[in-house]
Amino acid sequence: MKYKALHKLSYGLYIISTSYSGRSYGYIGNTVFQVTSSPPQLAISCHKDNVSASKILKSKVFSVSVLQKETDTSLIGRFGFMSGDSIDKFSDISTITAVTGAPVVVDDTVAWFDCEVVSVTDAGSHLIIVGLIKESDLLSDEEPLTYAYYREKYKMLAPKNAPTYIEKTKLEEEGLQGKDKEAEEGEESADKDDMDTYTCSICGYRYDPAEGDPSSNIPPGTPFSELPEDYRCPVCNAEKEYFKKS
Ligand code: FE
Repeated sequence: MKYKALHKLSYGLYIISTSYSGRSYGYIGNTVFQVTSSPPQLAISCHKDNVSASKILKSKVFSVSVLQKETDTSLIGRFGFMSGDSIDKFSDISTITAVTGAPVVVDDTVAWFDCEVVSVTDAGSHLIIVGLIKESDLLSDEEPLTYAYYREKYKMLAPKNAPTYIEKTKLEEEGLQGKDKEAEEGEESADKDDMDTYTCSICGYRYDPAEGDPSSNIPPGTPFSELPEDYRCPVCNAEKEYFKKS
């Protein structure tokens, strides 16, 4: 099997939310697809370990927010890489409710769907949940964020619970990390101490001094040691102490 072939499938990035017992739950998913037009139905695929998925099974409702191309990275980090057990993912986030009562995230959102669960299929590690669209809206004409754009921009692997997750070793065997290897070889010729890259242990984002971090106004050529003490991972918002030399 050629795992690299799976990277040729196209996806978007979405925030899938629900509420149960008075509390909101949500996560970032890349597998949302329209399955029928009449009736209008969507399907989502979510990991069985996902807390939000277990709540969707109980509440029988969920919403899907389609993220815009230039989405605030802290929003992705919060919903994609942090646990609802450690932070309130919905604090300071703008939401609305429509028909089902599920919270609908509207920050950095181009369109949303409010759905009622009509069927659940056990697909092994994941559940495929089909929802009937009860309401939807288009919020802007901005381009939606694609998974390919996200992966290229942040040079990241999928979170472990994503259906598209592939073990890093399998990708390395197929030479997918060639680009990174070239970059590392280039760094060796530079001042080695100053050019070490650091990887966020929470989400896998790699800070490369040669590139800096434009999203945090860190110019190229800034060593990790010279980042401000309050620097945070642009993807998951983790503090500097979570970064390990890579
Ligand atoms: Fe991170």
